[in-house]
Amino acid sequence: MTDLKIYGKNTMSINNMEKYDVIVIGGGPAGMMAAGTAANNGKRVLLIEKNDMLGRKLRITGKGRCNITNTADDETFFDNLPKNSKFMFSSYYNFNNYDVIDFFNTLGVETVEERGGRVFPKSEKAIDVVNAMIKFIKDAKVSAKKDKVVKILAEDNTVCGVKCESGEYFADNVIIATGGRSYPLTGSTGDGYRFAKELGHTVTEIRPSLVPVETKDSWCRELQGLSLRNISIKLVKDSKEIFSDFGEMIFTHFGVSGPVILSASAHITDKSQYKLILDLKPALDEKTLDKRILRDFESFSNKNFSNALDELLPKKLIPVIVGLSGISPYKKVNMITKEERETLLKLLKNLTITVKRLRPIDEAIVTRGGIAVNEINPSTMESKLVKGLYFCGEVIDVDAYTGGYNLQIAFSTGRQAGESI
Ligand SMILES: Cc1cc2nc3c(=O)[nH]c(=O)nc-3n(C[C@H](O)[C@H](O)[C@H](O)COP(=O)(O)OP(=O)(O)OC[C@H]3O[C@@H](n4cnc5c(N)ncnc54)[C@H](O)[C@@H]3O)c2cc1C
Repeated sequence: MTDLKIYGKNTMSINNMEKYDVIVIGGGPAGMMAAGTAANNGKRVLLIEKNDMLGRKLRITGKGRCNITNTADDETFFDNLPKNSKFMFSSYYNFNNYDVIDFFNTLGVETVEERGGRVFPKSEKAIDVVNAMIKFIKDAKVSAKKDKVVKILAEDNTVCGVKCESGEYFADNVIIATGGRSYPLTGSTGDGYRFAKELGHTVTEIRPSLVPVETKDSWCRELQGLSLRNISIKLVKDSKEIFSDFGEMIFTHFGVSGPVILSASAHITDKSQYKLILDLKPALDEKTLDKRILRDFESFSNKNFSNALDELLPKKLIPVIVGLSGISPYKKVNMITKEERETLLKLLKNLTITVKRLRPIDEAIVTRGGIAVNEINPSTMESKLVKGLYFCGEVIDVDAYTGGYNLQIAFSTGRQAGESI
C-alpha cells in the first residue's frame, strides 16, 4: 500500500496495523469532503482510493469545467432530484449550495454563475476544484493511501475496519464513498454496493441515468452533430406526458443527447414505449408561429418549399423537416395549401422521436439506484443496520438532473457523514 502523493515525499507514512477513528473508502468529491470534515473535527482519518490519483471523475465533470453546484432556491433544488429527494433534506440544509460556493471560495477557487444557475470555477478548470479538495484534506491532516478495499470488516453488526489488497486497517467508523457504477474507468465500479450487501443492506436496482438515448428514427442520425438551443421537449410514456424540459440538445450517430435529453433519460425506466416530442419554437404559440410561417412564405412565394425555410430552421434540419412534412420539396411556396401549412406547423411544434433504448450505464453521467435510503439515517448518514457504517455520495439511492445537483449531493452527504462521526 502506498501513500497517495498529496503531502510530498515520505510524509504521513502510516504503520499498517495502526488504528484510525475513521476510514473513508473512495477519494471522490463525497469521500474527500467526508474525510476532511471528520479530520477537522479532530478525528484520525484514513482515506483509501484505488486509483493512483484522487478525484478522477471530478476531473472530467462538466466537460472539464466542473459544474460544482447550482444557485437554485431550495424548492428548485429538491425538484431537481427525481427520486428520494426527502432523504436529502437534512444534509442539504446543513451544507447547501451557498455553503459549497463559500467552501471553494475559501479554498481560493473563485466561482462564476452561468445560465440556469450553474456554478463553475472562474478558471473553467475542473482540476482547480480537485486541487482545492486535495488542499482541504491535506490541511486537515487526512492520511491518504492508494489501495483497493476488498471487504469491510465487521463483528456483531459493528464495523471494525477494512481489508485491502495489501493489508488490513482498523477503525470504529467506515464511510463508503465509492460512487456509482457509471464511467467505470474512473474507478466507480460499484464495489460499495457489494460491501453494503455483504453487511445486510438492500441495494435498489442499478440503472443508467443522465445517459444519451438511442432512437428508432433514422432521420435523427442524418442530423448528427446538430445542436438545438432553446427548444422544449416532452417525454411521453404510453401516450402520457411524464416529463418536460426546456434547453439544449444534440443529435448524435445513435440518436440524441445533450442536457434536456439527459434529464429526460432519468424517467426512461422500463420497456414501455417512450416518445420525445420536440417543440422547435416554444416561444411562439401555434397562432403566432402560423403568422410567422405565412410571412416567410409571402417573401419566398416564388421559391421551392425546400428553399423557403432558411429563416425558420437551421440548414441541416430543413431537408429532414421537408421530408417529414410530406410536402414536395419542389412545390412552389405560393401553391402550398392551408392544410399543408398546418402539417408543417404541427411538425415544428411536435417533432416526434421514438426512443429505442438508453445507452449503456458505462456512458451514464450518474447511476440511478443504490443503497436503499430507508436503511440510512438521513441526519447522520449512518447505517441503520450496522454500527459505525456510513454512506455518502452517489453510492446512495439518490440522484439528480444535470446542473450541478449531483455534486451538491456528494458534498452535502459527505459533509454530513464527516460531521456526524
Ligand atoms: C462525464 C461526467 C461529467 C459529470 N459532470 C458533472 C457536473 O458537471 N456536475 C455535477 O454535479 N455532476 C457531474 N457528474 C456526476 C458527478 O461526477 C458524480 O455524481 C460524483 O462524482 C459522485 O461523487 P462520489 O464521490 O460519490 O463518487 P466518485 O466521484 O465516483 O468517486 C468514488 C471513488 O471511489 C473509488 N473507489 C471505488 N471503489 C473503491 C475501492 N474498492 N477501494 C478504494 N477506492 C474505491 C473510485 O476509484 C472513485 O475515485 C458527472 C459525471 C460524469 C461521468
